Amino acid sequence: MTSVITSRARHVAVIGLGAAGLVAVRELRREGHTVIGFEREKHVGGLWVYTDRVEPDSLSVDPDRTIVHSSIYQSLRTNLPRECMGYSDFPFVTRSSDGDPRRYPDHREVLMYLQDFAKEFKIEDMIRFETEVLCVEPSPENNRKWRVQFKSSSGVSGEDIFDAVVVCNGHFTEPRLAHIPGIESWPGKQIHSHNYRIPDPFKDQVVIVIGSQASGNDIRTDIATIAKEVHISSKMVASDSYGCYDNLRIHPTIYRAREDGSVVFRNGKVVFADAIVHCTGYKYHFPFLKTSGYVTVEDNRVGPLYKHVFPPALAPGISFIGLPFMGLQFFMFEIQSKWVASVLSGRVKLPAEDKMMEEAIAFYSKLEDLGIPKRYTHFLTDPRGNPMLGTFKPEDAVVISQSDYFNWIAKQCGCTSIERWRERLYNVAIKKVFFGGDSYRDRWDDDQLIEEVYREFAKLKPNQDCSS
Ligand code: FAD
Repeated sequence: MTSVITSRARHVAVIGLGAAGLVAVRELRREGHTVIGFEREKHVGGLWVYTDRVEPDSLSVDPDRTIVHSSIYQSLRTNLPRECMGYSDFPFVTRSSDGDPRRYPDHREVLMYLQDFAKEFKIEDMIRFETEVLCVEPSPENNRKWRVQFKSSSGVSGEDIFDAVVVCNGHFTEPRLAHIPGIESWPGKQIHSHNYRIPDPFKDQVVIVIGSQASGNDIRTDIATIAKEVHISSKMVASDSYGCYDNLRIHPTIYRAREDGSVVFRNGKVVFADAIVHCTGYKYHFPFLKTSGYVTVEDNRVGPLYKHVFPPALAPGISFIGLPFMGLQFFMFEIQSKWVASVLSGRVKLPAEDKMMEEAIAFYSKLEDLGIPKRYTHFLTDPRGNPMLGTFKPEDAVVISQSDYFNWIAKQCGCTSIERWRERLYNVAIKKVFFGGDSYRDRWDDDQLIEEVYREFAKLKPNQDCSS
């Protein structure tokens, strides 16, 4: 089904206008394509549009529930310094006098940045807001084209035919839960972090927070300000270990939950808890995508995909922006979008379908040989700085190093790859997330590097105040 394309403009649909979709629209248009963006919500920004609303089912397991897209909590600040978070030519510097000037700003500041980006590049003109894509499938008349069926919030349905569809629907909305024996009859309250907003409901309670990634760490700190005790359950803690400071207790994973309200940890400790907060991550979910099995999600691997972007059998008509997680997200969205745009115009060629498939299969075998579970397929970061991949040797970095990945894409489409300063900032920042303690956002010692960064920003087209 792989189509041969010549150098020309395509009619392209972009699904979702978060940070990925916004830059995809810009890059597609820069390459000369006509673009229509579909956004279910009223605004651009995706995940960064904070809402007090939560889903009625606090674990979000009911497939028929009303979906609330955003998973961010009221206290959220970025987990990377702003200088390395932005797109390459639109620095994420302080927005305005009423913004948050901190280097790790709050979520409102990120939303403002994305709104400014949309305004600067006149992206909103190309978006159909409050329009949910319900189905993407090969066009019945021409299977090299794609039929997109959609419905607006006022109930109006419609469909359009596109040469290509770029999927940017985000992957932090469909919760994943840890399996806990006995949890079905445990009587306490349970929520997934997707539905966590503020700590107030946990006042004076004994709370278990499962997970110690970025969100888990933030949420337990938030809840600890008000709860009686917070028990952290972490895969990264040895099974016989136990730690305690202030009202925080650190345990390994949970062994079982019991009907009497108690929870037994693998270190043998027993806790009677009021609530469990599952900060256990999310699943890739594409309910609208009908590909007759050419793209599947298996143990959170979206595949088969060539370099996390193109399904070999459907390329270049279907592409995904933003699947890899835990790296320089906005930069990655931008560089992947440049690649997709240039492939669609025919300026850059993809290998033949069978070669892309061979490459994908070789990549999956390599992960398997290294003992990396499928669910880490899209984990694109350098293992040297990341305890989640702590058992890997630096030489294995070639499998998953984000800089190698960016350099590879940049070479394909003849664009500039990651700047050295961005890479350096990120390498320090990612270690701080895991080892920098609770106040890592407010302590740094990279003044010289920051001076260099702002000198680089000043060379860019002045669309904002680049003085630090
Ligand atoms: P989203 O922002 O989720 O956007 C997807 C969009 O698609 C949404 O607007 C949604 O409404 C729309 N959509 C979905 N389905 C449909 C449909 N069927 N039809 C129409 N529209 C649809 N990254 C960082 O770089 N720094 C951080 O500090 C950081 N903090 C994070 C904190 C949390 C709690 C989480 C969960 C993630 C964080 N991230 C962070 C990563 C984050 O994924 C990226 O920053 C990025 O914003 C994701 O953008 P996206 O466009 O891929 O997805």
